[in-house]
Amino acid sequence: MHTVAEALEIVLRHAQPLPTTMAPLGPETLGLVLAEDVASDLDMPPFDKAMMDGFALSTSDLRDGHAELLIVEEIHAGKTPSVAVKSGQASRIMTGAPIPQGIDAVVMIERCEVAGNQVCVNDRTLKAGQNILARGREMRVGETVLRAGTRLRPQEFGLLATVGRPVVKVQPAPRVGIISTGDEIVEPEQTPGPGEIRSGNSLMLVAQVARAGGVPHYVGIARDEPGHLRALIDKSMQYDVLLLSGGVSAGKFDLVPGVLAELGMTALFHKIAMKPGKPLLFGITPPPHPQPLSPGRERGDRLIFGLPGNPVGSMVCFELFVRPAIRALMALPPGPDYVNATLTKDHAYRTDRPTYHPARLQQTDAGWTVEPTVWFGSPDLRGVVPANAFVLLPEGDHAHRAGDRLMVLRVENE
Ligand code: AMP
Ligand code: MG
Repeated sequence: MHTVAEALEIVLRHAQPLPTTMAPLGPETLGLVLAEDVASDLDMPPFDKAMMDGFALSTSDLRDGHAELLIVEEIHAGKTPSVAVKSGQASRIMTGAPIPQGIDAVVMIERCEVAGNQVCVNDRTLKAGQNILARGREMRVGETVLRAGTRLRPQEFGLLATVGRPVVKVQPAPRVGIISTGDEIVEPEQTPGPGEIRSGNSLMLVAQVARAGGVPHYVGIARDEPGHLRALIDKSMQYDVLLLSGGVSAGKFDLVPGVLAELGMTALFHKIAMKPGKPLLFGITPPPHPQPLSPGRERGDRLIFGLPGNPVGSMVCFELFVRPAIRALMALPPGPDYVNATLTKDHAYRTDRPTYHPARLQQTDAGWTVEPTVWFGSPDLRGVVPANAFVLLPEGDHAHRAGDRLMVLRVENE
């Protein structure tokens, strides 16, 4: 049986970044990693421009900050000035408009009084160059403005749009297929018959995949019958990652390991020393769409996870192993993220395996604090609703005291 750390290392060894693709900037690309250097196709700003609404003038016309000038033009943003400004003259100008020839400053409108075609300026602090943004100040044509490896946030979207690149090369988000298994499992919209329960795991996994940055594809519920399970797995061959829920323990109808082996999966581990989530199965098959590789880049395998059927085991295994895999496929730092936190109340327990107990993690003036929620074990999803993290309880017989420091698995950012 592997430890959590050993198992994570095995998963990450096989989670190589996916081949890059061209993609339009939009909700689906937000948070992806840019896979090319991007250069500007223009100077920014492309012309010397006014940064204020006011009057474009020559500071040599000012005496003690004062001048009376003839207004020769009104320059709107998007318009090119048509006349040069001579001594004794000024052009009214709007923010963002190109400045006319013959001027060296823009005085803000609040310092001006207009009377007919005359403007009376009063600004003792105005200096040459003021309120003018020089052409190319932000960037020059040909200059690299973003490097491969940058994560795309709103400001990168804005910059890429500015340099005319609404479509860029990115590390794509993996497509993740989700199959639930079990004769007793029915869809959420159905009323369970005798002995049946609704699938909580399918939609929980859809949400976890989306939160991790992957693209979830729900396939369906496989009956505990090899032919039907095989058919659903066959239907899911196009996904980069395949998640199966249930059917991985030692029961007679736990068919997932056998059927996956028949279909050519190489199992890399089965069972982890942890609670909940012990029966986790991980394996690989060749990638769904083998394609030519760029030099120095290896195409990773397709990753298959057999997650435990019990909802909290499934949730914890996802956060510990699947989320890091999804992030690694996207060339992001994989995590998982742990913080050290102070226990807020005594907590006595006995466990034969390191245990991830649902908990409330909080940032306080005194640092991180953690409080385990009331929870009765692997099937108890209700006990996870007040939680936003999992506190790691080491194996053995322990009586932790308020004030003790414990490691906590973070699963939320808020
Ligand atoms: P299994 O590993 O298939 O034996 O499942 C372990 C436990 O998890 C059983 O009590 C199942 O009924 C339950 N379970 C399996 N799949 C799901 C699911 N999709 N949603 C909720 N509970 C499930
Ligand atoms: Mg089952």
